[in-house]
Amino acid sequence: MAPADAESPRYRVAVRALCEFTARSGDLDLRFTPAPTAQQGIAGHQVVASRRGEHYEHEVTLEGRYGALIVRGRADGYDPVRQRLEEVKTRRGDIDAMPDNQRALHWAQAKVYAALMCRERELEAIEVALVYFDIEQQRETVLVETMDRHTLEAFFIAQCERFIDWAEQELAHETARAQALGQLAFPHADFRPGQRALAESVFKAISTRRDLMLQAPTGIGKTLGTLFPALKAMPGQQLDRLFFLTARTTGRRLALEALTTLGMANSCEEAGEPGVRTLELIARDKACEHPELACHGDSCPLASGFYDRLPGARQAAVQQGFLDHDSLRSVALAHRVCPYYLGQEMAHWCDVVIGDVNYWFDTSAMLYALTRQHQWRVSVLIDEAHNLVERGRAMYGAEFDQNRFAAARREAPAALKRVLDRLWRQWKALLREHDGDYICLDAPPRKLFNALSQFVTSVGDLMVETPIALESALLEAWFDAMQIVRIAELAGECDASHYLFDIERRGRSATLSLRNVVPAPLLAARFEGAHAAILFSATLSPGHYYRDQLGLGSSTPWLEMASPFTAGQLEVHLAGHISTRYRDRRASLAPIAELMAHQFHQRPGNYLAFFSSFDYLEQVSEALAEHAPDVPQWSQARRMSEPERDAFLARFTPKGQGIGFAVLGGIFGEGIDLPGERLIGAFVATLGLAQFNPVNEQMKTRMEALFGDGYRYAYLYPGITRVVQAAGRVIRSPEDQGVIHLIDDRFRRGEIQALLPRWWTLPPGARHNVDIR
Ligand code: SF4
Repeated sequence: MAPADAESPRYRVAVRALCEFTARSGDLDLRFTPAPTAQQGIAGHQVVASRRGEHYEHEVTLEGRYGALIVRGRADGYDPVRQRLEEVKTRRGDIDAMPDNQRALHWAQAKVYAALMCRERELEAIEVALVYFDIEQQRETVLVETMDRHTLEAFFIAQCERFIDWAEQELAHETARAQALGQLAFPHADFRPGQRALAESVFKAISTRRDLMLQAPTGIGKTLGTLFPALKAMPGQQLDRLFFLTARTTGRRLALEALTTLGMANSCEEAGEPGVRTLELIARDKACEHPELACHGDSCPLASGFYDRLPGARQAAVQQGFLDHDSLRSVALAHRVCPYYLGQEMAHWCDVVIGDVNYWFDTSAMLYALTRQHQWRVSVLIDEAHNLVERGRAMYGAEFDQNRFAAARREAPAALKRVLDRLWRQWKALLREHDGDYICLDAPPRKLFNALSQFVTSVGDLMVETPIALESALLEAWFDAMQIVRIAELAGECDASHYLFDIERRGRSATLSLRNVVPAPLLAARFEGAHAAILFSATLSPGHYYRDQLGLGSSTPWLEMASPFTAGQLEVHLAGHISTRYRDRRASLAPIAELMAHQFHQRPGNYLAFFSSFDYLEQVSEALAEHAPDVPQWSQARRMSEPERDAFLARFTPKGQGIGFAVLGGIFGEGIDLPGERLIGAFVATLGLAQFNPVNEQMKTRMEALFGDGYRYAYLYPGITRVVQAAGRVIRSPEDQGVIHLIDDRFRRGEIQALLPRWWTLPPGARHNVDIR
């Protein structure tokens, strides 16, 4: 291939990415996955470097060109005295059991670095060393080959040649994308009320590289109103990627619909290369074609020969361009590769990626890791961002459930007996030290964590030789243990007040929880990795609470978009004569049932009624059945399958009549859309406060210490968010008419009313001073 002239566009590729593209073949094999954590990896590299002499150079930046390619990377180490280039891999387990294709990939990286080193230092020959560092044993296994520069140069050129067509296609795609985005027009004749202001705010924030918090009501068209300006801002800001992250499947679906409206899903066959490539990421358990099998070539046919067929699948996928779950699956199955892992591959090559928030925020977030690896400039749109507080806590927390480890112990092979016995002894010792149903520990239980770490290693080593069935208790305990070890490390890096270690006893069993109290510092680190992050939701009030919990700086703008709805569309009633406090529940049943029956008889139609618990829900349901047996009703059950959920919602037909009972903060409390006559009213018989229990009281104490406002941060603000979300199901469009009954005397407090949407008009005289607790 002729070298590119100086004016030609260049394509930059990291050594690792180049080799992953060119030097992988054979099966996908996830048996060799007990990888060290990032921290262990860094520490391992430091140990290796510290064992070399003073002359040893580590993290040596190297760069080389070939045609339009600029290949860059940092070699782990170079010993100029021995003329030895080292590629260090931290690992666990027996290296002889490592799949050949993985070893070949490591050699390819080492050789490319060695070729670049020979070029840069004008060396005729060099020792190329693969250093496998066992983090448990702190032992090195070094594989060395001496190679001359011509051999290495030929190897380097061969890799570049295998990549160059793809790189040129990528360069052409960048141009096509910039052109497509430049021409992108808003797909409707006009914006909805408030939608233009929303879009302008998003465009401005991305163009000025600022994060932004947006409270925008339902009906404004948030999804299109954020995606459109974010796409328009991409060329000007030279953004590589746009990630639309959401906590719910419905959010993903709405984003795909918005992109379809913007023309992104048009078949690109006639037009050739699609202007913008879109990818929907879904969880492995939803994407897996063979859940009964393990992810390696000996078990799963879609893992066997995966890398040999990947180039064809990848090419077909970029030509398809709009890769929602169904399209990606079709491409994958046509090429006989795993759809889930094809999706992971396509995340490298798609411009807009739609997926769960965990792809950016969790401890092993793929999109965040890719962004760092490729040094992409990305904008991140976070839909229903109020959920990120709880999701953040869940992502940065872990649990040791005694029953799960006991089950693993029962089925574990003899090879794990010692390590599991030791783990069990540490657990029992911890329980002996701490008596009581609920104990908040003063310090993290280090001995138990060490035993868990040992368990993680031993299972990993065992899996190298003997695959463990996907649904086994042992594998579940192993995943739990890995998460605990990871979170214990993370907690160690945080302010001590941001984590809670507690033990809860239930009968003969107990659970140790590593609870994240405030996800802010961990989330903040992820926000920093984005060019701009736009967080939007119908409920981001009060701004200071969400800023504090989500880790957004005090200078992050918080904007509220005017509602497209008018007060005339929604009657808001306040049943201030009823208390739903736990102690007053019994007395509240009859008045609530009367109120619901009265409303239903006055205006028959579909209603939702929300309660703080299943018990309360059942009691009111019985009271209503007794008081007004003519009112049709149906209830959310404690555990519902997807078909059962669908059946619950299917009763809300335009001509339907009845009341659906649900739990506030549950699956029907947000993210469902029942426009027009499908839902004409809601009853909210609770303030949405979290249950009063020792855990929540501990959270309150921590919030008090951190923010000086324990009750509001732990109970009130999250509770009112749930109320507004639930009530927000009623008015979904400017044509809707509906009614809301807020049932509790505390809704009369001015402070609580100030947290409700401004466009709601409360009845005159609704405000009184009532004890908030
Ligand atoms: S189809 Fe399922 S088992 Fe097979 S490789 Fe994919 S995720 Fe693993």
